[in-house]
Amino acid sequence: MTQDEPSGQVMSQGVMSTGEGMRIFPDVEACIDCGGCVVACKRTWDREIDNQRIDITTMAEGVAGPQGENADKTGRLAAGENPGETSLPMQCYHCENAPCVSVCPTNALQKEDDGFVSVHEDLCVGCQYCLSGCPFGAPQFPDSNDGTAQIFGTGGIMDKCTGCRERQEVQKGPACAEECATDAILVGGAGEIADELEARDSQPFFNDEAMAIIFGEEDAQLFQ
Ligand code: SF4
Ligand code: SF4
Repeated sequence: MTQDEPSGQVMSQGVMSTGEGMRIFPDVEACIDCGGCVVACKRTWDREIDNQRIDITTMAEGVAGPQGENADKTGRLAAGENPGETSLPMQCYHCENAPCVSVCPTNALQKEDDGFVSVHEDLCVGCQYCLSGCPFGAPQFPDSNDGTAQIFGTGGIMDKCTGCRERQEVQKGPACAEECATDAILVGGAGEIADELEARDSQPFFNDEAMAIIFGEEDAQLFQ
């Protein structure tokens, strides 16, 4: 192997495969809300302080409980019980049926042939329709006060998780996934992610509608 060739090795066991057809999906059972993924993303892509391409959302915050209450969080939620805090890494999941792509009036958002949902900045008019359309809070508008695109929207060019496409092109995983200490961010094909969640005895957090958006109707069945 020469120095220029990718090693094909990844740091995280959550990264199972990269490149065309990959999916990104969180294992909420594994997330411990340490913020490592947020830091990894900001450092890798030099994001501004208030522009987070990945965010950790905490559900049922502040509920006290006995030791072990956070075990089997998704199972207990589904059973109508209170599992205590659940931490959910939220980022662009590069949806199969991406609502942001559907609502964008200028084709600034495109589902590419390799599966990544990309932002074509030169086409964005800052209307923020995508912000309303995305169920996962992925679209960011870090330059909304800069006066760009003010004619149509509130200004600013949309920014979101790119899936670290450039890294994946050299067989590296997304920075967030590779640096997650608990392998809570899974990267791979839909079948690989479904198998890994099953092996961990962890349930996908999202309901059927959200799963169909992220994976498409057919692949969403892999998780049932
Ligand atoms: S809807 Fe949201 S999560 Fe899905 S591709 Fe668009 S920005 Fe990403
Ligand atoms: S803000 Fe930009 S990317 Fe979002 S819907 Fe409007 S034109 Fe498309």
